[in-house]
Amino acid sequence: MLPEWQILSAVLDVHSKSSASKFIDEVCWRTYWKGWLELRPSVWKDYISELAEDRERCKKDVDYTQIITARSGIAAMDAWTSELIETGYLHNHTRMWYASIWIHTLKLPWTLGADFFLRHLLDGDAASNTLSWRWVAGLHTQGKVYLAQESNICKFTAGRHALEIPLATQSAEIKTSQKNTTPRILAAYDEPIPSGRVGLLVHEDDLSAVNWLAASSELVAVAGMLPLAAYQKYGIEEKVIQFRSDCMRSLLPEKAEIFNCPKKVAEWAHLQKLDAVIMAAPPVGIWDDLILDLESSLAALGLVVIKRRHWWDAHFYPAAGAGFFKYKKLIPSALDKLVDQATNL
Ligand SMILES: Cc1cc2nc3c(=O)[nH]c(=O)nc-3n(C[C@H](O)[C@H](O)[C@H](O)COP(=O)(O)OP(=O)(O)OC[C@H]3O[C@@H](n4cnc5c(N)ncnc54)[C@H](O)[C@@H]3O)c2cc1C
Repeated sequence: MLPEWQILSAVLDVHSKSSASKFIDEVCWRTYWKGWLELRPSVWKDYISELAEDRERCKKDVDYTQIITARSGIAAMDAWTSELIETGYLHNHTRMWYASIWIHTLKLPWTLGADFFLRHLLDGDAASNTLSWRWVAGLHTQGKVYLAQESNICKFTAGRHALEIPLATQSAEIKTSQKNTTPRILAAYDEPIPSGRVGLLVHEDDLSAVNWLAASSELVAVAGMLPLAAYQKYGIEEKVIQFRSDCMRSLLPEKAEIFNCPKKVAEWAHLQKLDAVIMAAPPVGIWDDLILDLESSLAALGLVVIKRRHWWDAHFYPAAGAGFFKYKKLIPSALDKLVDQATNL
């Protein structure tokens, strides 16, 4: 919701680049995953169709049902499941252990685990979540899987959790149609803004657009969109929707309305006599179909949708085609620009 550049700008106000370098890298992982998926949208589509098949196949699977209701009988997994459901959060280590036990020890489909996380995590993100599950499963980097170790879990949880079963020491056999496809060329999103009345539409993936897009054009109206039908389609929990709605409400101007479907946005645009709607380009994920609906609802009224990509994403995304360590070389120049432009985020 708050993008990486905004978080890092706040961090650099109080810490030096060198003292915050580990944290900066962590935050840049998020941009990396987003860029990686943006370059390969078919990976998300494949995940969605594989998920539908796995869900059908496993709907009566006892292990699956028990694990997602915190009744697996493995105390650690049950505690983490309850924590996820209650709080909408798990620490990064726990997410890795959980995914590893799910995939390699319990031999459940990774897609169902990714779906379970996406439905409950307050920070649920199509790119970071799907690609992290793929990484644990060994689908991301050839020959590399993540296998959780009991000693590591004991060390970092101070022995709090019993593991009643031995953890897998080798990868489960993963049947998948997923491939790491060749990266596509990204759209530049640099079409000129037509003259006339322009309205800003803010979506939940980048609430900071209310600042950086407002600074780039003369706006006559601002509104938000929370895609409720898409949330329902993906089974996103009510608590997560409420969290996103509260975040959006707190960042939009007081009088700005929040819509939940393209039709309502089109009505607003019509009422405001807009000629164009500008918005941050939504990332690959749950907005995939929605953006097409939105564009056609507005086109029916003769309005264009102008999409923009923040310079931070435009800087990093093309480099996310390769591994993180090559991509990481772009961090220093991005931080320099961030410090220079701190007033215009
Ligand atoms: C199986 C699995 C699923 C995950 N699902 C998500 C998800 O849906 N959404 C999500 O944002 N992250 C996801 N992550 C990455 C990471 O676990 C979370 O970003 C992190 O735990 C969030 O907690 P924090 O804010 O306390 O992070 P901190 O450790 O304080 O890190 C600060 C910030 O850096 C970013 N970050 C840190 N590590 C990563 C990482 N490995 N990948 C991407 N960003 C990172 C996040 O924006 C995070 O808020 C997942 C990781 C795994 C292993």
